[in-house]
Amino acid sequence: MRIVFVGPPGAGKGTQSQRLLHYLQIPHISTGDMLRRAIADHTPEGRRAEQYMVKGQLVPDDLMLDLVSRRLDSPDCDHGALFDGFPRTVPQAEALTQMLSNRGTPLDIVIELRVPDAEVIRRMSQRGREDDRDEVVAERIRAYWNQTRPLLNFYEQQGLVESVDGLGSPDEVFSRIKRLVAQPKQV
Ligand code: ADP
Repeated sequence: MRIVFVGPPGAGKGTQSQRLLHYLQIPHISTGDMLRRAIADHTPEGRRAEQYMVKGQLVPDDLMLDLVSRRLDSPDCDHGALFDGFPRTVPQAEALTQMLSNRGTPLDIVIELRVPDAEVIRRMSQRGREDDRDEVVAERIRAYWNQTRPLLNFYEQQGLVESVDGLGSPDEVFSRIKRLVAQPKQV
């Protein structure tokens, strides 16, 4: 199964992704994690991405597409993937559609995790990651509404979007998500 997970920063995508990928046994393609790893490894891509990330801005599409396309070439992605934090712009979504159609493995579902801005801000003030400082959070929420939210229209036209209420305990939210995805293969 190929799933795109969309939601504002702090919506709980990370927590829910962990549960979902254990449940479905599919690889996790988290571009935020991939970028943080590239920064820690001091790669040229990491150095370039960092300049945007520290300001809460999106990293340019060309870098993101290189990163994801390389990741999709590894054999574990033949069985499915959970895209978390990607795509984040309409051009990224268009490119992903193309990449997946070249591989004969289209998306099955786009899950939108809905959380009001006030709750996002409250949650992130408790987290303490470097890009969770107030002014950076505000910029990331702006980027979500301006650049990422339009993705949902793009995917709605393809009938792929299912929205989930992101309020409640992690277990409650996960049970809503589980209802949307197919049962994992029995082993
Ligand atoms: P969150 O969902 O909490 O914002 P992520 O870990 O997904 O956190 O992303 C952290 C930062 O990494 C973003 O603010 C952005 O700068 C960068 N980033 C991650 N994924 C993408 C992407 N697909 N396109 C552009 N920038 C990205």
